[in-house]
Amino acid sequence: MVNSRTSLCRWNAREGTVCSRLCAAIDVLESYSKMTFPVENIVRILAINSGEATTTARRTKNWASELGGRYLRLSTYLVVSYLAYAYTWPIQEAHEWKWGWIMTVVIRNFAIEIVFYGGWHSFLYSLGYGQSKLRGKKFNKEDQYRAGSGHLQREQLYTTLGFCMSSAFEIATLHLWATKSRILVPFYDDFFALENLSRSVLHCLFVAYWRDFHFYWVHRMMHKWNVKLFGVDPGGFLYKHVHSLHHKSRNPGPWSGLSMHPIEHLFYYTCVLTPVVFTIHPFHFLLNKFHADISPVAGHDGYDQPAGGSKFHYLHHTLVDCNYGTPMVPMDVLFGSYINPETSVELSQRGGGGKQKGS
Ligand SMILES: [Zn+2]
Ligand SMILES: [Zn+2]
Repeated sequence: MVNSRTSLCRWNAREGTVCSRLCAAIDVLESYSKMTFPVENIVRILAINSGEATTTARRTKNWASELGGRYLRLSTYLVVSYLAYAYTWPIQEAHEWKWGWIMTVVIRNFAIEIVFYGGWHSFLYSLGYGQSKLRGKKFNKEDQYRAGSGHLQREQLYTTLGFCMSSAFEIATLHLWATKSRILVPFYDDFFALENLSRSVLHCLFVAYWRDFHFYWVHRMMHKWNVKLFGVDPGGFLYKHVHSLHHKSRNPGPWSGLSMHPIEHLFYYTCVLTPVVFTIHPFHFLLNKFHADISPVAGHDGYDQPAGGSKFHYLHHTLVDCNYGTPMVPMDVLFGSYINPETSVELSQRGGGGKQKGS
């Protein structure tokens, strides 16, 4: 992990053997890409805590490795989507409203909430891995979850409501597909059939970019438009009555990600409505949905790399009127709301020193 460019194989295998080639391939992946959340994060944090590595962030340098790294990071969603599709995708029963298949979907989604949100919060904030050597990587050193603040309870409640909304979109999609409703374009069954293979792969590659594009617009809609309709700024109205709930997490943690007003959940999960327009495989639907479910965890965990590392979105939580989207789809650069997280030390300190609203 640390000396990933060394010519010696970590398993001391002879040069030219399958083992040494595998070792070299892992070295390349480690050097030029990132492993998926939370695997890389856990491995690197454990290495730092055991003294095998420093807290210096490893930044990828060229666009090709960065692009490869982006797709490697998607592998969590690919695995979760595959398992969900293989074992908990009740399309055969979904033509009838019955509790059995509905509860299959709901329980699986709550299990994902507990594993990813509960697990990452426990790792960083309860088990202490974010405290000792990673302490310097916390954007805002104040403990947002100190006893009596109420932040954790609020975030857990609204995140759970978010998973209810996610489940509702999934249940509706299953039923509409199972009943061959004309609201949705019919799905195709054989992901790997030759005639489907190119669109199967392309749609997987498209999902993360679609998600970030959709997130920018839904999110931007709930901040001031600086335009008034009938005397009211619609964005300012939505911020005050809906989105301000998410911004109560001014010093965010893992549970802040989906801590949104139910109306914001409704807007947020419209990203999964792609089968209204496109012919897709159910796997694409699940990939899209699980990306929406899980990606906010790392984006809000409150730590720089090797934890989630989303200073970009942290700046949005502290300064509010910047960085509405993500670095991956740079809409903020296009529309002048971009603040570079690498050169905004004084801004993050200004924003990071404050208390959470409602503290
Ligand atoms: Zn946020
Ligand atoms: Zn916002």
